Amino acid sequence: MSSVEDGMKTAWVLDSKGRRLAPCSSEKATMMVSQGKATLICEEPLTIQLPYAVELPPRPEPVQQTQVGEGRSILLHTCCGPCSTYTITHLREQGFDVSGLWYNPNVHPYAEHQRRLASMRTYAESVGTPLLCEEGYEMSDFLRNVVGRESHGERCRHCYRMRLNRTARVAVREGFDAFTTTLLVSPHQDQDMLRDVGEVAGGEFGVEFHFENFRRGWSERGRLTREHNLYRQDYCGCVYSEWERYTGQRIRPGVSG
Ligand code: SF4
Repeated sequence: MSSVEDGMKTAWVLDSKGRRLAPCSSEKATMMVSQGKATLICEEPLTIQLPYAVELPPRPEPVQQTQVGEGRSILLHTCCGPCSTYTITHLREQGFDVSGLWYNPNVHPYAEHQRRLASMRTYAESVGTPLLCEEGYEMSDFLRNVVGRESHGERCRHCYRMRLNRTARVAVREGFDAFTTTLLVSPHQDQDMLRDVGEVAGGEFGVEFHFENFRRGWSERGRLTREHNLYRQDYCGCVYSEWERYTGQRIRPGVSG
């Protein structure tokens, strides 16, 4: 007898090709042998063989748990060290090969820009993420783009466009599969507008814009920022946002600050 389950002895059953089928009781196996319906192969453990082959149903294919970024490279526009923490971690967990791009001519004044860049470099180095840096500051181009459109929202669309267009262009130039931005982690940014601008840039330059609501990682961003002791700015970046931050006012269309 081969085994005892719930007090009942069972026998192994093979088909004519030697494939193991569902076991049966030892009584049934003995009866089949005595009736010539099966051949006794072994007494211990009790094993019988049927004279015919049994077509077994095909085994279901194992479900492949593919990750969205598996085997793909992505260029991540980085606005600062803190917003990069969760975003880089999360994209890597999704299987992406992540590189960062620094291009933020919207951050004023220059000393503040350099301080944020230094923080970004520190973090990128500490987690082994390559960081591409676009030459120059291009503050004048930024101001030229937003002059006459200084209200909150209106200027942000131009700001997003400048930064995401550049990211898309570099992504194509450097052969990345997709691009995205750390701005998507911040509840202070307009996510719908970012998506719109990102998708238009992706279409124009011919590279996929990876949209994802990274905001679910906002508190983790805070924890990682403290853990890495990164510089935390208290205004978005441009001179207008600084003025708004410290006065508690908003620049409205047609009204100067
Ligand atoms: S508030 Fe922020 S997103 Fe808007 S224009 Fe200024 S720097 Fe850019």
